[in-house]
Parts: sequence; structure tokens; C-alpha cells
Amino acid sequence: PEAISVSNLAKLIGERLAPFEQKLRVLGIEYTTHDHLLNAEEASLIAMEYDLSPVVNSEAAIDLYSKPIPNDMSKYPLRPPIVTIMGHVDHGKTTLLDSLRKSTVAAGEAGGITQHIGAFSVTLPSKKTITFLDTPGHAAFSAMRARGAHVTDIVVLVVAADDGIMPQTIEAIKHAKDAGVPMVVAINKIDRHDANASKVRESLLAHGVELEEYNGDTQSVEISALKSQGLDVLEESIITLAELSEYRAEVDIEAEGNIIESQVERGKGNVATILVKRGTLKQGDNIVAGTSWCKVRLMTNDKGESLKEALPGTPVKVMGWKNLPKAGDEVLQAKDEELAKIVVNNRLLKEERERQIKDLEVINEKRRQRK
Ligand code: GDP
Ligand code: MG
Repeated sequence: PEAISVSNLAKLIGERLAPFEQKLRVLGIEYTTHDHLLNAEEASLIAMEYDLSPVVNSEAAIDLYSKPIPNDMSKYPLRPPIVTIMGHVDHGKTTLLDSLRKSTVAAGEAGGITQHIGAFSVTLPSKKTITFLDTPGHAAFSAMRARGAHVTDIVVLVVAADDGIMPQTIEAIKHAKDAGVPMVVAINKIDRHDANASKVRESLLAHGVELEEYNGDTQSVEISALKSQGLDVLEESIITLAELSEYRAEVDIEAEGNIIESQVERGKGNVATILVKRGTLKQGDNIVAGTSWCKVRLMTNDKGESLKEALPGTPVKVMGWKNLPKAGDEVLQAKDEELAKIVVNNRLLKEERERQIKDLEVINEKRRQRK
């Protein structure tokens, strides 16, 4: 049931709190403190007293929710693992992503040009696929985690063999541990004359990363992101880890996912990359993310090709958002445009209400301090 606080209703009506509370007492409402919740009937009565015609909005509680995860996932198909690359600045994250991305173009159709969409998929000779997130590392990871979005399955921790463990390496280890996400260590810049991989391994152990070499279960791989060496071994390590975890997803339900990144593009308007986590996203679907919605007319993959459908683990760029959704926002499907609009409207109203409550709390706090 809908309820509104005394102070919020006063704000909506545009009356100061003291005369408003006076009016409520006249109307026979017993409790008039600012945070007392009024039910719909009381609120309507008060609104009429101010010559306003109340509209009781039965749609106000309508929202979209993620479907419960089935108990037994074993009958659903495997999906590609979703991997985030983390590590200290200058240890080679961007170079590694570039090399991995290039390897997919070389292996793919002739003339394929990769597009930056915040994520890309690599298909190995074994036909297995890995999806890499290509968003500005820690910031995106933290922002998404803060919103409760569990986007990443696996972290690749890049450590430069000439530099060793640095502050952001330690931070990344902590992020991965806090999120309960398994790691593969990529010891990078192995081509350098001053590379010292065994020193890196030893200090990782000192920082609580138990590598296989020390009877732990974290794999480490020596690579040169710059020279594209060891990337196949790294990819195989990721697949090994993914096969242990068996990431599965339903494909025959309405699409669910997360926004990876979003931006306004010239000639295209509001554009956002969605990573589909469950279900299948299809052309013509209506989807909602945060306080934006969109009818999927055109969706493209990381190679710029237009897609009719996107399966779990697939990143797709979608145009036509009414406004910009935020990285980490949950994407859910609405059965039609009407519902998408209602949901967005309700979320906007809720945001507005929460903002008003915060404002009032600040005002009340200031009043209290003056006393
Ligand atoms: P990021 O800050 O982690 O994204 O690091 P970058 O990818 O920008 O790399 C920082 C510097 O290290 C650049 O000058 C790269 O060319 C260089 N670099 C990255 N990987 C390697 C590598 O495998 N070998 C060598 N020698 N240099 C590398
Ligand atoms: Mg970088």
C-alpha cells in the first residue's frame, strides 16, 4: 500500500510544515510529526482540503524484478565467462586488452574492425568463448559492485615482472577477494631484460595469493602483452577456471543484464552497452535500466555487426535510450512499451520522493542545531 510522510505531502502541496500540521489536527489526524506516514485515504482527504484533486495511483508500486535463480542450473547451457583485467597502473592492462582484441579480429572474418563498446568476446580455436570487460578497471568494477551488480566471474590480475607488487595490485587482490571472484595471475612484460617472474610469485604469496607453484589453486601465466606472447596459455587458464565453475544461464526467459558503459554519440543519441547475463535479448524487446528505457531497434556486437538476438555472456551496444543509463544499472525486460514507461515513471517518482526526504532531513537537522 502506498504511504507518504507528513513532510513529503506538505512539500508536494507546497505548504509550510507548521500550518500543515495544524490543518491535519483540525482534520482529526492524530499524529502529525514530519515523519509520520499517512495512508492513501488520509493523503487524499488532506489534498482535497487544499482544493487539489487527488489521483490514487494504483500503478505506483509496479516495477520490474529479476527472476529467481533456479535451484538446479545443471540443465541450462553454459555461457562464456566474463573477465575483468585489473592491476597497477602501467603494468599493461590496456596493452593486454588490445592484444586480446586484435587476436579475435585476426581469427575472425576478413576485414573485421573492432569497435570500442566496453566489452568484447574472444573465440578460441576450441570454439570456446571468453568475454572481456574493457571498462576503466577499478572504477567500473567498484561502481558496479556498489550497486550490487555481480558482473565479473573471473579477474585477471596483471603484474609487471619488472615492477612487482604495487599498491593497486594489492587493491585489486582485495577487490577480487571481497567479491569472491577467482583470479588468474598474468605476469606481464616477460620480454624485458629485467623481468623477474619468480620474485613476483614469491611476493604474491606474501600477499595471500596462493599460486599453484606453492600448492595453492591460483594459476599464474607468464605473458608479454606487447609481443602477444603467452596469450593462448592465459586464455586456456581462464577456460580451465571457468569449466570448474560451470557458468550456466537460462536462454529462454526474458533478458536480464547490466549496463557496462553508456555515452551520447553523435548521430546516434544515447547509446549503451549491455552485457546479457540471463535470457535472450531480441530485436523489438522493451528494456528498462535505472530510470531509462529503450525499444531495441538496432543492436550491434563488438565487431560492429548488427544482431537480431544476444545470448547470455554477449555484450551488445543498443541505441535508442530515452536518457543515459549508468554503468552497473540492472537491465530488465518489460512486456511492452506501456509497462516500460510506467516503471521508469515510478522509479523517477521514487527518486524524487527520496530526494525530498533527504532535503527535509537536512533542513530539520539544521533547525535542531539552531535550538
Ligand atoms: P596500463 O596502465 O596497465 O593500462 O598499462 P599500459 O597497457 O598502458 O602499458 C604501460 C606501458 O607498458 C606501455 O608503454 C606499454 O607499451 C608497456 N607494456 C605493456 N605490456 C608490455 C609488455 O608485455 N612488454 C613490454 N616490454 N612493455 C609492455
Ligand atoms: Mg590503461
